[in-house]
Amino acid sequence: MGKTTITLIPGDGIGPEVADATVRVLEEAGAELEWERHIAGAEAVKQQGNPLPTEVLDSVRRNRVALKGPITTQVGGGFKSVNVQLRQELDLYANLRPSRSLESIPSRFQNVDIIVVRENTEDLYSGLEHVVVPGVVESLKIITEKASTRIARFAFEYARRHGRKRVTAVHKANIMKLSDGLFLECFRKVSSSYPDIVADDKIVDNMCMQLVMKPEAWDVLLLENLYGDIVSDLCAGLVGGLGVVPGANIGHEAAIFEAVHGSAPDIAGQNLANPLALIRSAILMLRHLNQDEVAERLRAALRDVIVRQKIRTRDLGGEATTTSFTDAVVAALNAAPPAAVAEPA
Ligand code: NAD
Repeated sequence: MGKTTITLIPGDGIGPEVADATVRVLEEAGAELEWERHIAGAEAVKQQGNPLPTEVLDSVRRNRVALKGPITTQVGGGFKSVNVQLRQELDLYANLRPSRSLESIPSRFQNVDIIVVRENTEDLYSGLEHVVVPGVVESLKIITEKASTRIARFAFEYARRHGRKRVTAVHKANIMKLSDGLFLECFRKVSSSYPDIVADDKIVDNMCMQLVMKPEAWDVLLLENLYGDIVSDLCAGLVGGLGVVPGANIGHEAAIFEAVHGSAPDIAGQNLANPLALIRSAILMLRHLNQDEVAERLRAALRDVIVRQKIRTRDLGGEATTTSFTDAVVAALNAAPPAAVAEPA
């Protein structure tokens, strides 16, 4: 089998550290990949005057798959978020964020296994904001039947393919009767084609309370863009935090795999970043590319390092650096394969 070319966007802050670690373990695991490396964000502005140069988009369009580190977005002013632009330009409409408990990762709960499916292209992230009169701004929340229907279909298809039993739509349709009402209506219409999967819904504030009281009760959650952003971080917190959970942005033409966490400027350049979340995102990527055997080898090596050897970075209460954690994963990959434990990434 020939090598698959992947667009690599290391990002900034801790991005290059966790991206280098991820590329290294993928190579050691025997992934059939080669890389096209691109810069985006503030560094691209400095070099080319554009945070998202055309060649980055062209590269992802050509290769159809990218692995991406976090990119800093200025609060308030500055350029439009590169992350949001990539998702909108490439129509990566589905954001997938699995949050699963992994034994020996310190967290308040065990047995959590929640898949957050977030609509990625519209809602309040359309970037349609303007000053009405000085002192008054308006931000438009866009919800369409087309986007709500396709994300609902994605959630049910995902559930069916992965043997999940229930999809819960999360909304605020009691207040935003038109916009969230449309989202919910589309969900209900789509659900009628999936009688094998339980479909129900919850108001977002109640959902947050239930998630922190009894997180093991939930299965697949389907949310609009803003609620999805917030609730997926909440779910990450249930299983050990942002350094742990993977993510994927998926469309019909391309997919970008990236961790949920940001560029962590507070620890950037100090060899403290946990590469686990990006490595787990890369495992999702390997499965997307049908390189299941390599994905399984890497998953087993991570499990060996974290669960058996109890090697963890500082954010998880351990003492490992980015480099020593990565070394341990490489050593585990090169050791005799540990007993397989049936569990997805
Ligand atoms: P953050 O995720 O960068 O950091 C939050 C906290 O978690 C910090 O204390 C940080 O040290 C810690 N943390 C995050 N990832 C870690 C890791 N891998 N290992 C160890 N500790 C880790 O969130 P923030 O501070 O709100 O955002 C910083 C910047 O990142 C902002 O500019 C934001 O816009 C951007 N951001 C980018 C993306 C993306 O590129 N997809 C996602 C979220 C935030």
